[in-house]
This record gives sequence, C-alpha cells and structure tokens, in this order.
Amino acid sequence: MFETLSDRLTSVFSSLRGKGRLSEEDINATAREIRLALLEADVALPVVRSFIAQVKERAQGAEVSKALNPAQQVIKIVNEELVEILGGETREIRFAKTPPTVIMLAGLQGAGKTTLAGKLGRWLAAERNTPLLVAADLQRPNAVTQLQVVGERAGVPVFAPEPGNGVGDPVAVARASIEQARRNNHNVVVIDTAGRLGVDSEMMQQAADIRDAVQPDEILFVVDAMIGQDAVNTAQAFLDGVGYDAVALTKLDGDARGGAALSIRHITGRPIMFASTGEKLEDFDLFHPDRMASRILDMGDVLTLIEQAQRTFEEDEVAKMASTLASDDDFTLDDFLQQMAMVRRLGPISNLLGMMPGMGQMRDQIGNVDEKDLDRIAAIIQSMTPEERRTPKIINGSRRLRIANGSGTQVSDVNGLVTRFFEAQKMMRQVKAGGGMPGMPGMPG
Ligand code: GDP
Repeated sequence: MFETLSDRLTSVFSSLRGKGRLSEEDINATAREIRLALLEADVALPVVRSFIAQVKERAQGAEVSKALNPAQQVIKIVNEELVEILGGETREIRFAKTPPTVIMLAGLQGAGKTTLAGKLGRWLAAERNTPLLVAADLQRPNAVTQLQVVGERAGVPVFAPEPGNGVGDPVAVARASIEQARRNNHNVVVIDTAGRLGVDSEMMQQAADIRDAVQPDEILFVVDAMIGQDAVNTAQAFLDGVGYDAVALTKLDGDARGGAALSIRHITGRPIMFASTGEKLEDFDLFHPDRMASRILDMGDVLTLIEQAQRTFEEDEVAKMASTLASDDDFTLDDFLQQMAMVRRLGPISNLLGMMPGMGQMRDQIGNVDEKDLDRIAAIIQSMTPEERRTPKIINGSRRLRIANGSGTQVSDVNGLVTRFFEAQKMMRQVKAGGGMPGMPGMPG
C-alpha cells in the first residue's frame, strides 16, 4: 500500500539529514521533490498544488525548534498536512436517532460494493449492532446470490427479493427492507445497489430513486482505489448524480501509489470513512487519516519519537543542553547528571536511541539508568563539592571515601560513577570537536 509514495518521500527526507538550518533554497528544492513524489503517486493536480503551498508556507514560517532538527520539522509538517488532506479526524457513522440507521452503498460495478456490504455487516455486528444486508442490486445476474454468500460468511442476515418474482424493483426491495428491519429489530440496514461498468445515467437514476425512497442516513460511495485518477472522476460523477456523505475506498492493498486516497477528500469535500484492504471479510476498518499518513511516511516510530521528544524536553532544558554542547566549557558531573535524567525521562523510547546517530553512543556511555540507579548517582554527585563537580580529576582516594560516606554508598559505587563519567566526558569532547551532536536531542540526525 502506497509503496511508491513512501519510497519517494523517504528519500526526500534523507536528503535533509544533517542540515543545520534550512535555507530558502533547501525549502524550495524539498517542495519540488515532494511535488514530484505526489504527481508520481497520481495525486490530482489541485490537491498537489494546495499541499505544496501549505508545506512551503509552514516550513518557511517554522519556528526554530529546539526539540527538532530541520529534517524532523519537515517530516512533522508533511505528516500533519497528509493527515489534513486525508480528512483530519476519523469519520464515524452517524447513527439515526430512531433505528434503523440506513446506509446505502453506491458505486461502479466491480468497485467492491457487495464485498464491502459483507465486511461492513460483519464490522457492525462486532460493534454490537444487529445489521441487515439488503440486495437491491437486481441488475447483475448473480449479485443477489453473491450477497447471500457474503452475508452467510459474515454471519449477517440478508434481505432479498423472492426468487421467481421476475426482474424485481430495487426501489420496492429497499423500501420493504426497512419494514423488515423494524419488524426484526435490525438497528442498521446496509443497502447494496446496482453498479455499471461506467458512469451511466440510468444507474444514477436508479440509485437516486432508492435514495429518495429510503432517505438513507449515510450514502457511501464505494470506489476502487487502484483506478487512481479515474476514481476521482467517478467520485465527481456520483456526487453530481446521487450525492453521498462519505467514501469507502476498496482495494487499498493493491494500490502502490495512493492517488485516489490522497485526492478524493479534497476534490469531493467528502471524508473517507472506510478502508478495504483485501478480499477477506476482516480486511476492513474505519479509515484513520492519522494512521494512514504515518503509514505513507513509513516512519511511525520516528513520528512517535518526534512527538515524545517534544513533550519530554522542556524548552529551557533543551536550550541548556544545547548550550552545554556548544560551549567550550568542559563537560562536568552536573551536566552528566542532567543528561542522565533526560535519557531516563524518555523512558521506553530510550531503547530506540540506539538507532540514532549520537544518541546511541551517549546511551551506551551513560548506561541503562533506572530510577534507583539515578537516585544513587544523584546522591553521590550531590555529596561532592562544587569544585569536585566542575573538576572531577581532583577526586582522589580520600575524597572518594568522604563522598561514599556522605551519600550512603560504597567507595566502589563512587569509583564506578567516576569511571563512567570520564568515558562520557571523553565522548562529549569528541562530539564537540566534531562540530556538535547532529540533531540533538537525537532522532534521525
Ligand atoms: P461490486 O460489483 O461493486 O459488488 O464488487 P464486488 O464486491 O463483487 O468485488 C469485485 C472484486 O473485487 C471481487 O473479486 C472482490 O473479491 C474484489 N475485492 C473487493 N474488495 C477488495 C479489496 O479490498 N482488496 C482486494 N484485493 N480485492 C477486493
């Protein structure tokens, strides 16, 4: 799903790595690359334009963040804009005040409507509803049987016209199904309607007639994501011909590009409500724009890290840390203590630090600090004189004994700490000599 776009965006971001600051030229170049990536993904031109304009404007106006490096900032902006273009909030079903809630499916033949009816039925039942599926597709010879088969697999009852009743009237079937639902206490009715191979006025009329007869609470436009730009055109035709409240995107599993998913909301003004990602009944869920965006960026972990880093590091703390790194002053025991507290506060994500340049080294030097460890280290450092903290090499044997007694620890603990500190100090000197730690605090530097 969306592999092409993921790959392209990943390479755009990696070209930003290691940059200390983004110049106007960097931003323009990045915007051009993202534009190409979107066009290659078959995203509709107006959508691409608006997306790029937003990203550029935000990147230019971006506050110089102390918690994020430029690459991370661009990732963050692109991620947020992707969420926005995909619809922002997850769109839930609006249930009717008086049941049954009527959901009507419309779309071209082959879009996956019948399959989706089964999936939706199963999903609704799992959410403690009592759905009824309705076969109002009387065009395609075996559509009714197909829905019955799907319904059976999903464990959801199907309402269908009596066999042998001639061609049948889909409007009458739809109307009768509502009565049936009331009688049998089905709180949701899902109506499968007929589609054609292409946009067709007779099909639109039939769907509009069913709509007028049953007044659906939700009309879902079902569309095959694999048809890319055609999906957008069809979406527009159905919007004009029948109208709908939301979109169900099918066959996302086969969609390497993502053009339909990224365009449809912007072009139609209707949210994507469901995503179908395979032929099995369980390959189906509500469409979550935020999850989809991180999937496209293929960097869920990094995004989580960015958020946590922002939350975890107080601005002034980061500023202090950054100035320690930037200054010519040597790394002291006070800095050491502060650094450990920061790493500890990152909690489980400190496990991920190993993947990042700079931070991995730092964590190894500091070691895995847990709560008790840190308390002991803090006690030891606090039992030192300010001079000892600033100039640890003066800490000789008798000072070590005094510090151990003062902090209620053993001389071996003090020795261990001093050794660890000198290792960290050595590393910090190397980092400073090498021009600072890229992207401190951490993440893809
Ligand atoms: P309808 O004509 O709109 O009712 O479409 P169908 O429900 O009959 O689906 C057409 C074909 O698409 C069938 O072969 C389905 O198995 C397949 N299909 C439906 N949804 C998905 C999906 O999300 N992923 C994949 N890979 N195939 C799907």
